[in-house]
Amino acid sequence: MPMVLTLNAGSSSVKFALFDAALDDGPAMATGQIDGLASHAIFTARAAATEKECFELSPAGRADHVRAVNAILEWIESRLAGRSVVAIGHRIVHGGPRHATPLPIDDNLIEELRALTPLAPLHQPHNLQGVVAARAEFPHVPQVACFDTAFHRGHPFVTDAFAIPRHFYHEGVRRYGFHGLSYEYIAGCLRRIAPVEAAGKVIIAHLGNGASLCAVRDGRSIASSMGFTALDGLPMGTRCGQIDPGVLLYLMAEKGMDVHALTDLLYNQSGLKGLSGLSSDMRDLQASDSREARETIDHFILRTCRKIGSLVAALEGFDAIVFTGGIGENSAAVRKGVLDRLRWLGLEPDDEANERGDTVISSPACRARAFVIKTDEERMIARHTLEVTGLAGRSRAA
Ligand code: ADP
Repeated sequence: MPMVLTLNAGSSSVKFALFDAALDDGPAMATGQIDGLASHAIFTARAAATEKECFELSPAGRADHVRAVNAILEWIESRLAGRSVVAIGHRIVHGGPRHATPLPIDDNLIEELRALTPLAPLHQPHNLQGVVAARAEFPHVPQVACFDTAFHRGHPFVTDAFAIPRHFYHEGVRRYGFHGLSYEYIAGCLRRIAPVEAAGKVIIAHLGNGASLCAVRDGRSIASSMGFTALDGLPMGTRCGQIDPGVLLYLMAEKGMDVHALTDLLYNQSGLKGLSGLSSDMRDLQASDSREARETIDHFILRTCRKIGSLVAALEGFDAIVFTGGIGENSAAVRKGVLDRLRWLGLEPDDEANERGDTVISSPACRARAFVIKTDEERMIARHTLEVTGLAGRSRAA
C-alpha cells in the first residue's frame, strides 16, 4: 500500500503526516511531531485507531533534523510495516516571487530556495534542513516543495508593492502573503460546501498561533493581511502584526535596540503574549478574568475586524467569511466578537450554531454567510505531492 509522507520542519520541531496515496480524502493514517530539537527532543505520534505514543529520542533527547527524520522513518517502519512511502511533500515557507505552484525538488531548486533565506530567516533554513535530511533518508523517493507563498502569486504590482522606491520591489521587497496552503485547502472545501459563495467574494480568517486573513475571489487570492514577512497584519500569539514603522525607528534611536533585539521583540515577545503579559494562548486569556486578558482579546477582535474591512475594500464586496485555524475553529467567543462587528456587511450571526461550532454559523435569512471549516495543510501538501509526482491517478487506479 503506497503512502505519501508530509514534512513540516521548523526551527525546533519536525511535524509529519502520512496519507494513503490512493485516497484523495479521509483522515491521515498517522500524524506526529518531534519537538524540542534544540534542547530535549520528544517524539509524539499516533497511527489511526491506536493510542498516542510519546517518547524521548535517544540518546538522551539529543537530535537534529537528520536524526528527527531518521526517527520518523524508524517509527513508520515499525508501526506501518508493509506500507511504503512513495512520495514526500515538504512545507516550504518561501517560494519567492516566481513560484506559484508546487515543484519537484532537485539540487538546483534547493540552491534557489536557499538563496531566499534572507526573506524568511527564521523558517527557510529549517525547512531546507528537513528537505536535505529527507533526501538522505529516502534517496529514491520523489520529493516536492509546497510553498506557503504560492497561492498569493497572482497579485498585480499595485497589490504587492510597498510605497518605497520602486527598485526595492524588483529586488524582492514586496508583499508575499503566507498561510497559502491553508487558504487553498479552505477554498477547495468551500467549493464543495457552498459553491455559490465560493464563486464570489470571500474572506478566509486563518486565526491560529500565526494569524492572517485572505481575500479570495472565485477561489483565487486577491489580497492578504500578511506582507513581506509573516509579521504583518493581525496580532498573533507572540508576533505584533501591523505596526507603525515609526515605532521601530524610535526603539532603535531611543532604546538602542539592534536587529536581534527587535527581531526577538516583534516575533517572540509581542502579540497576545506581550499585550496580556500572561500568555500567547487564547485559551489562557479566555480563562482569565484579568483586565489585561480581556483587553487583549478585544484588541485582537478589533484588529481582525478592521483588517477585514480593508480586505473587503480590496474585494469590492463581500459574500462570506470562513473561520479556520486553532482560534477560528475553536473559539466561539472570538468568532462571536468578530461577527457581531460585521453586521454592516449583511451578516447575522446564529449564536447557537456558533456555540456548537456548526459549519454554518450565520442565520439563514441574512445576505452574507459565515462558516467554520477545519484546515488541513498536510492534506493539501499530500495532494500537491501526488499531482506533481504524477502518482495521483496511478495510486488511485492501483
Ligand atoms: P499554529 O499557527 O501554530 O498552527 P493553531 O492553528 O494550532 O496554531 O492554533 C493554536 C492556537 O489556537 C492556540 O494558541 C490557542 O490560542 C488557540 N486555541 C486552540 N483551541 C482553542 C479553544 N478551544 N479556544 C480558544 N482558543 C483555542
